[in-house]
Amino acid sequence: SELYGIEEWGGGYFGVSPEGEVVVRSPSNGQAGATVSLMDIAHGLQQRGLEMPVLLRLENLVDSRISILNESFAQAMETTGYQGCYRGAFPIKVNQQSHIVAEIARFGERYNHGLEAGSKAELMIALSTLQNRESLIICNGYKDAEFIDLGLQARKLGFKCFFVLETPAEVPLIIERSRALGVDPLIGARLKLSTKVEGHWSEDSGDRSLFGLTAIQLVEVVDSLREAGLLHCFQLLHFHLGSQIPNIRSIRAGVFEACRYYIDLVAEGAPLGYMDLGGGLAIDYDGTCSTSGHSRNYSVQEYCVDVVEAIQQALDPHDIEHPVIVTESGRATVAHTSVLLFNILDVGHFDPAPLPEALPEDSHAQLANLWHAIRVIAANNLQESYNDVTYYRDQIRDMFHRGEISLRERAFGENLYLAGLQKIAALLPELKRIPAELETLPQQLADIYYGNFSVFQSLPDSWAIEQVFPVMPIHRLNEKPTRQAIIADLTCDCDGKLDRFAGPHGNTETLSVHPVKASEEYYLGVFLVGAYQETLGDLHNLFGDTNVASIRINNEGGMEFVHELHGDSIADVLSYVEYDPQAMFKQFRATAEQAVRDGRITVSDRQEMLAAFTDSLRGYTYFER
Ligand code: PLP
Repeated sequence: SELYGIEEWGGGYFGVSPEGEVVVRSPSNGQAGATVSLMDIAHGLQQRGLEMPVLLRLENLVDSRISILNESFAQAMETTGYQGCYRGAFPIKVNQQSHIVAEIARFGERYNHGLEAGSKAELMIALSTLQNRESLIICNGYKDAEFIDLGLQARKLGFKCFFVLETPAEVPLIIERSRALGVDPLIGARLKLSTKVEGHWSEDSGDRSLFGLTAIQLVEVVDSLREAGLLHCFQLLHFHLGSQIPNIRSIRAGVFEACRYYIDLVAEGAPLGYMDLGGGLAIDYDGTCSTSGHSRNYSVQEYCVDVVEAIQQALDPHDIEHPVIVTESGRATVAHTSVLLFNILDVGHFDPAPLPEALPEDSHAQLANLWHAIRVIAANNLQESYNDVTYYRDQIRDMFHRGEISLRERAFGENLYLAGLQKIAALLPELKRIPAELETLPQQLADIYYGNFSVFQSLPDSWAIEQVFPVMPIHRLNEKPTRQAIIADLTCDCDGKLDRFAGPHGNTETLSVHPVKASEEYYLGVFLVGAYQETLGDLHNLFGDTNVASIRINNEGGMEFVHELHGDSIADVLSYVEYDPQAMFKQFRATAEQAVRDGRITVSDRQEMLAAFTDSLRGYTYFER
C-alpha cells in the first residue's frame, strides 16, 4: 500500500486494513475513530441497486474539515493573543449539492460558519439554508438590482449579508436600492493586490487579475460612500489570490499587502472590522507536501498561524483593533469528502504473443533483420537496439503500405517489435542513466485499464488543467500489484484518461495495479474529488451524473446510508440536449412498424426492439453488467 502514498495524501482519513482494503477513518473529537472498508460500502451500494460508478460522499469528513479549520484558527488566535475571531464562509460554487451545503450549515452552526454566494441562485441557497444570524453571507460577483434587493431583504431579516464590490459601477446601484428599501447595506470591497502567487490559479492575482478594485477605484468608492452618507457601512476588506495556493510565503505577502489598505482605509474613516482572505487554502493532492501545484508547503495549522500573525504584525503598530478574520475556504473544506468508485471493464495489453522457436524459413529479409536485432539486445546496447528495432519496424510498415508484404507478415513484424521493446524495457533498471528516448518506454508499454466512468463528467479538472487526483485499487492490497497501467474512461476520446498518479516519491505516469481476474470485479477509487468536480463536469458522450451515496460512519464502526441518488438515465441526458425521449420512441416505433409492413421483421421482433429501446431510455448511461 506504500506504493500509492495513501498516508501522505489521505489526510489521516484513509488507510489500508490488515485485509488489504482501503478504509475510511472517521475522526471523532480529534481521536482516530471508527473505520469502515470501502469494499463493504461498495457491497452495500450494490445491495441497494446502486451500480458502479458511484460518487461516495462521506459526511463525517465534512464535519471534521469544518472543525479543523475553525479549531485551528481558534488555537492560533489563542496562542498569539489575537483579539478578534474567525468566521468561515463556505463558497457554494465549490460544491453546490444540497446535502453538502446543508451539512456545512448544520454542523458549522456551532462555529457560526457561513456561506459565500457568487450569484443570485447561490444567495437563495444561502438564505434558505442558514439558520444562524451570526454566520456571514458574503456576496461576491456582479450584482444587479434583483441580487441587491434580495441581499437587502436578508439584512431586514437579520442576516449578516455583505455585498463585496467587484467594480465601482456597483456602488450607485447599492446606494439607490438601499435608499429605496430603507435599509443600510453591509459593504465590502475586493482588492486587486499586486502580490502574485504560483499555481494554476495565479491569474486571480496581480495587476492584470480580472476582479477587484485598484487603489484609484478604492478611493472613488470611499468618496462616493461618504457622499451618500454610507461610509459607516463599509466594514469588510476582501481579496482572493487564487485557489490552491502552493506556497505559504505568497499568502503571508498577500495578507501584508491587504493590511496596508486596511490601515489607510481605517484612517479614511471606514469602520472596517472584517478581513476576508477569500479562498486559496490548498490540498495535498499528490502527497508531496511541495509547491508542485498539486500540493502545498504548509498545513492548515500553519496557514492559520501565519495569517493571524501577519495581521497582528501589520496592524499592531497602528493601534488598530484586530479584525474578524474571514476565509472562503472551499477546496480545503470539501475535497476530502468525496471518493469516486468505479470498476474495470477490460484490459488492453502490449505484451507480445509467444515467438516461434526459429524464424520461419521464407521470412522477408527485413523480418529476419528485426529477428536478429532482438536476439542481440543487451544492457550495454539498449539505445542502439531501440534504434534498430524501430528502423526495421518502420521498414516493415512501409513495405506493407506498398503491398510488398501481407497483413500476416506485418502482424508478425509488429509482434517481434513489441517483443523487442519489452526486452529493452526489462533491462532499463540495469542502467545508471536511462537515455531520454527510452524514459517513456515503460509508459508506452503499460496496460490500458478501461474504467467504468467518464473523466469529463466526474474528474473534469484532470482533463482541463491536468490536476492529479490520488487513484488506487481499493482491495487486494496485500497482493503485489504486478502490472503497470494507465486508466482509460468510457468516452471514445483520447483525453479521457488518467496518466499521472500520486506516489510516495512524486508523480508517476503509470499506476501499479493487479491483474484483473475473470471471476471478480476489480475496483479503483479516485480520492479528494469533493471540490469543484461535480458541478464542472460535463456531458461529453452523454455520460450523465453518476449514482451518488452519502454515508455516515457511526462511532461503533457501522455505517448509515444517509442519502442515495440514482444517476441520470439515458432519457434524462437526452432531454438535457433538447431531445424529446417520447418523440424519439414514437419515431423508432414508426420505423419498426414500417419494417413489419415491409415484411423485413416479424411482429414479435418489433416487440423485442421496442422493449430494448424503452429499457435503454430508462437505463444508466454507464456500463451495466
Ligand atoms: N472565494 C472566491 C472569490 C473564489 O473565487 C474562490 C475560488 O476560486 C474561492 C473563494 C474558493 O477557493 P478555494 O477553493 O481555493 O478555497
